[in-house]
Amino acid sequence: MDVYSHPTFDMAARQFDRVADHLGIPVDERDRLKYPKRALTVAVPLRRDDGSITVFPGYRVQHHLSLGPTKGGIRYHPDVRLGEVAALAMWMSWKCALMGLPYGGAKGGVAVDPGALSTGELERLTRRFTQELIPFIGPQIDIPAPDLGTNEQTMAWMMDTYSTHVGHCVPGVVTGKPLVLGGSLGRREATGRGVGYLIGRVFETLGIEQSGATAAIQGFGNVGSHAAYSLARHGVKVIAASDVNGGVHNASGLDLRALDAHVAATRTVAGFALADPIDNASLLELPCDVLVPAAMERQITGANAGRLRCRVLAEAANGPVTPDADTILENRADVFVIPDILCNAGGVVVSYFEWVQDLQSFFWNESEVTDRLFRMLESAFQQTLQASRKQNIPMRTAAMSLGVKRVWDAKRARGLFP
Ligand code: GLU
Repeated sequence: MDVYSHPTFDMAARQFDRVADHLGIPVDERDRLKYPKRALTVAVPLRRDDGSITVFPGYRVQHHLSLGPTKGGIRYHPDVRLGEVAALAMWMSWKCALMGLPYGGAKGGVAVDPGALSTGELERLTRRFTQELIPFIGPQIDIPAPDLGTNEQTMAWMMDTYSTHVGHCVPGVVTGKPLVLGGSLGRREATGRGVGYLIGRVFETLGIEQSGATAAIQGFGNVGSHAAYSLARHGVKVIAASDVNGGVHNASGLDLRALDAHVAATRTVAGFALADPIDNASLLELPCDVLVPAAMERQITGANAGRLRCRVLAEAANGPVTPDADTILENRADVFVIPDILCNAGGVVVSYFEWVQDLQSFFWNESEVTDRLFRMLESAFQQTLQASRKQNIPMRTAAMSLGVKRVWDAKRARGLFP
């Protein structure tokens, strides 16, 4: 199946092969687990504000349907490709299974730079893309959510387009919606909060004092910024943060409130006056207690993994560490990795809570959401740590093998049709 050929898909496939070897999955059962069940590619025409028409490629990949509907975000980014989305869908499968959610993984996206579109253009693009997806999504089929370049407003337009089509209000078709449309309290903060919670637990495990510890964060979007606030609440000093336009560094700790005001005014951390500029590559190599890649895939590679100077690597992004980098990090006892499918699982866990609340039309308060989120993360963290220690395997292999094993068990129990 070379239709998914892409460096990110190759990476996800290599990770899977390694876990399949570890679990002893028979060779003829592997492809059934690895390749997405189905994928849709669409051409999304957009009438621009100047009257011209541009067509953007859009994708939705559903990785497996063995445990329930599929779940995963929609990404707007110029580099979105079918193979990338397929890799991200595969990771969603292992993530949902690790967390015990009744979902398969999915991911979608449009190859577009959302920053180059007006609000009106974004709305028309989102509605037309949703229209193309209608036979493929639904609360019992596939439930999109925000990802890179999309947000609550994107989900509101998707929910409205879908609901208008079926003729009644269907809040459960997407998660990460505005509260007023059946969104969940705590969803916006969930991924970053989860990252903060797990870093705190790993610090405890390693005997690192949170207060006064240092953090460097690559990517200051929804996930990176909420991870920063959550760390700061526990006394961690955030010494660097970056986005696509560049980064800022202050060894005595960034003033996050002032940084927020700067980002609100300029839409970037670059140029923040109370810090020195730093580029994205140098940020990754800063000495710190925790490094949080919260941006794109494949940031830590065979080329820079040996130069990391963090004690904990908290993978808030999906797929930020390549298999070549893994090989280096596995031989570095000084770096503890919190793998992506565990580290950033808070988002999809609260998406699950949002879906459950929408299906029941019965809503929870924020502390119910957060308490349940932390309980589920704690259980997955304990299971992963125990598997890693007992079997003497890296944390990524441990987390992935728990996820892959559940999907494998489900497929075996259901059997092969016909
Ligand atoms: N896009 C997020 C992720 O990669 C959230 C997915 C969801 O909530 O469905 O985990």
